[in-house]
Amino acid sequence: MSVKDNHGYHMPPQEFRRHGYALIDWLADYALNVDQYPVLSQVKPGDVRATLPQSAPQIGESFEQVMADFERDILPGITHWQSPNFFAYFPANTSGPSILGELLSAGLGVQGMMWLTSHACTELESHVLDWVVDILGLPEKFKSSTDGGGVIQDSASSATLCALLAARERVTRFNAKEAGPNGRLVAYCTTETHSSLEKACIIAGIGLKNLRKITTGDDLAMDVSAFSSQIEQDKSDGLIPFFACATIGTTSTLAIDPVPEIASVCEQHRLWLHVDAAMAGTAAMCEEHRSLHRGVERADSYCFNPHKWMFTNFDCDCFFVADRQELINTLTVLPEYLRNPATDSGDVIDYRDWQIPLGRRFRALKLWFVIRHYGVEGLKHHIREHVALAARFVSWVNANDDFEIAASPRLNLVCFRHRSSEELNRKLLEALNKSGRLFLSHTTLDEKFCLRFCVGQTHTTEAHVAAAWRQIEGTANQLQSAS
Ligand code: PLP
Repeated sequence: MSVKDNHGYHMPPQEFRRHGYALIDWLADYALNVDQYPVLSQVKPGDVRATLPQSAPQIGESFEQVMADFERDILPGITHWQSPNFFAYFPANTSGPSILGELLSAGLGVQGMMWLTSHACTELESHVLDWVVDILGLPEKFKSSTDGGGVIQDSASSATLCALLAARERVTRFNAKEAGPNGRLVAYCTTETHSSLEKACIIAGIGLKNLRKITTGDDLAMDVSAFSSQIEQDKSDGLIPFFACATIGTTSTLAIDPVPEIASVCEQHRLWLHVDAAMAGTAAMCEEHRSLHRGVERADSYCFNPHKWMFTNFDCDCFFVADRQELINTLTVLPEYLRNPATDSGDVIDYRDWQIPLGRRFRALKLWFVIRHYGVEGLKHHIREHVALAARFVSWVNANDDFEIAASPRLNLVCFRHRSSEELNRKLLEALNKSGRLFLSHTTLDEKFCLRFCVGQTHTTEAHVAAAWRQIEGTANQLQSAS
């Protein structure tokens, strides 16, 4: 019996075709109308679950019914990250080619844990990541033709964890994976580093007490002399410094750690240097922002997220190492049931050894689709547009005496506040987000509450940014006159 006749309870391919077309229509309409929804979902905790039946259906239901329930019960609980009025956190933007690449990956249903389990899944990934090295001006040592190479991880958090684990193994001569960490290994970051490093230290058995958060200067970048002194202190206390994380574009303000100076300290004390450029890394494809990557050629590892600002839907983090063998030796386990001649030959890459889980999706497809659709010129065009829109927003903030810029604006991020009071700024953010017309987030700088405005959504234009600023000014005026 062929697949054509054997459906059982499965969705027959002809029905899949019909629903698939309808779903693509739905998504195209969604993309056209996404600015009509409240950006931040307006439902209360528990509202979504209250609409759902207590137990799963015993008898299967029609696709139309499921979609109708999705629209009625689930959609109101969605926060619309793809709205052009989404300015919160860092973006997680997407695009037509990315969604189609993701769909193709789902349709193929490939589990690409090893070269053997889908040759193209591995080889396309290696190839596209070599392209990314060129696109972002990253060092040649991250290319697959060298001792290093790149891999797609689900997130920057996973990339950082892998880097930390490989650093732990390098410094213990691959003993910690047998014996467990010895309690004396010390990792370094700054007070501005993303919290994913704390989580990595918990998971890797380094312990939070052995994570040093080095102070920053006025620019919120690492104070390198404090870093150096702390290492000396830790060494004289009998501890073993082994890992440092530098950030290109911190989460709060896009501060840039001085990677070359940090690299010098790491080289002197033989620390693994990991560079986290989660969002800002994308900007380095533009020649005028290439200097963001100064010093990265001296790093042991580097990551950035196309799933933030490169029109590639979540999840997609590109992680590069200078010495792939260190990573592989750290993470490899080879049970009998995975043995195969290709692996034994040593001629192929098995990406299962480059990440935490065994299984892996065919993520390279969507990244390949995106790069081929836009071309590097197209990508640069849109990144430049976002940076220019953020600059325009800065000029409007500066033109209003009631507001001030709270940290040097960088790339596509503006931190600002109303000059009046902490309370007004908090109320302002709450009122703006409650309006559903735009979504911003906040940070604290010099112990003062600030608003963050990040331009990175695929379809955000000057009209959206201008409307957002009018809404911010108008709401602030209303709040002031009401107080
Ligand atoms: N690093 C930085 C600088 C970030 O801003 C973020 C998230 O915003 C992360 C790491 C974590 O990213 P992911 O969600 O991919 O783990």
